[in-house]
Amino acid sequence: MLFWREKLRDPGWLVPVLALTLACAALFAGETWIAQSRSQAMVSAAADQSRLLSSVESKVDGVGRSIELALGSIDQSIGRSGSESPLQDAMIAGISSRLRLVSDGMIALRLIDVDGGVYFYPYPEHPPRVNVRDREYFRLGLASAPGTLFFGVPIRSRLTGRWGLPLIRRLENRHEGIALACAVLDMESLSRFVGQVEPGHGDVVTLTRVDGTVLGRWPDSGSGAAIGHRSDLAPSGERLNSVRHGVFIQMISPMDGRRKLVSYATLERYSVVVTVSTPLAEILAATERTALLIRGGVAAFIVFELLALAAVWRLLQRLHRRESRLADVVREKTASMALLSQRTIDLEATRESLERLSITDPLTGLYNRRHFIDMVERTLAVAQREGQPLTLLYLDIDYFKHVNDNYGHVAGDVTLQVLAGVMRGGLRPGDDLARIGGEEFAILLPDAGIHQAQAVAERVRSEVEAKVVATGEGDVSVTISIGGAVASACDTPTSLLKRADSALYQAKQQGRNRVVFSADC
Ligand code: GH3
Ligand code: MG
Ligand code: MG
Repeated sequence: MLFWREKLRDPGWLVPVLALTLACAALFAGETWIAQSRSQAMVSAAADQSRLLSSVESKVDGVGRSIELALGSIDQSIGRSGSESPLQDAMIAGISSRLRLVSDGMIALRLIDVDGGVYFYPYPEHPPRVNVRDREYFRLGLASAPGTLFFGVPIRSRLTGRWGLPLIRRLENRHEGIALACAVLDMESLSRFVGQVEPGHGDVVTLTRVDGTVLGRWPDSGSGAAIGHRSDLAPSGERLNSVRHGVFIQMISPMDGRRKLVSYATLERYSVVVTVSTPLAEILAATERTALLIRGGVAAFIVFELLALAAVWRLLQRLHRRESRLADVVREKTASMALLSQRTIDLEATRESLERLSITDPLTGLYNRRHFIDMVERTLAVAQREGQPLTLLYLDIDYFKHVNDNYGHVAGDVTLQVLAGVMRGGLRPGDDLARIGGEEFAILLPDAGIHQAQAVAERVRSEVEAKVVATGEGDVSVTISIGGAVASACDTPTSLLKRADSALYQAKQQGRNRVVFSADC
């Protein structure tokens, strides 16, 4: 919980997370588009192949049916001919001419006897002696069941040197040892014929026997060597029994070593398979070019993102450094301010202590003379303004000189300190007591008229008289004389002080240890 709260407080970590998310999204979108585009290209290529395959299939089937019909008719004609030699049979000659005519010279007819001797059609005046006993189709033909039709491996004519694809029928009827009827498709013409379907760029059409033998390949692209050999390009055997048409991806073509999309159709009647194959590279060329652009774009985007991330990172680092520098400055300033404030407090204490010292008598701790005069000036002004009574008392210890003389100066000091305490004890909190000379004191009594002042003075005098001060040199007892003056409207501080001093003088004169008040001013 604390972890996440910390994380939320500093959103800097959001920057790389956002960048990573965007990069992943860009990668994902790019790769998805590429995959979709690839599969669309494959689907469309398969549809194109299917159209092409149907065209080729119907062309091969058409030629096959014409030949089948012609060879069947020849078989029947031989059966009917009786003693007439098939070589002289006008009907067979007619069929041959028609075949040649309708196929535009592509199909030539031959009859073959059981020894391999070949009879050409139309039967030439000086027939060449050609024997095909060594040919594969001758052996297969003799071994096949009567009435069956099959393609033989392409052969090169020993007469013309041209390549031809033989389609053979084992005859049901025999005459003069003739066992096979064979229609030879001229390969060059067949190429032109198949080429009429206009295969697309990279498409290769192959005609294969179900045993895997390649019968033809268009365009040939110079690999004619494959013809007559076995190939795994087209499905064969068991697979053909279950699937007549199909599409599959061939990993490596045995013809040119390329990966291909292959569509095939089986013509069971002639035991052949027509295949159309297109290299995947051709199908996906456009997609791959776009994919390259998209991946380049995604890579550029990621690089841009990384650069932006680095810039933001550096900015954040700089901000952090600035922040910590500011925090240092604030800490320093706070510390110096605390120091300053402490110094101010110390100075104030020193000032207060100095001020206290400046107004205090060091021996007794009472106010000193100067401060007492200040108080008289202030208090008299207030009392006169507000019509309040105010009385000033002057106190002087009687014959104090004798104390010093008899007990010593130190005992005199102790006596002064103790008597200061006695005087203080006889006053109210608002009354002010000061030592204004060696053994002279003064009291200011605010709010005190003559009667109250007389009572206070008498109390202080009697308490002092009663006090026995124990000093190191022995017990000391003294008396005091007090002169008082009650302030009037006509008084100034000086006149008030002077009247009190005069009253004190009278008290001394009248025998000491007494209180005398001055008359009004
Ligand atoms: P009276 O006032 O009764 O006329 O007689 P007195 O002896 O008190 O008066 P005087 O003015 O002659 O003497 C005052 C004496 O007080 C003189 C001095 O030695 C003494 N004195 C003044 N200040 C101090 C002080 O701070 N300490 C001590 N120990 N004695 C002081
Ligand atoms: Mg005196
Ligand atoms: Mg005295």
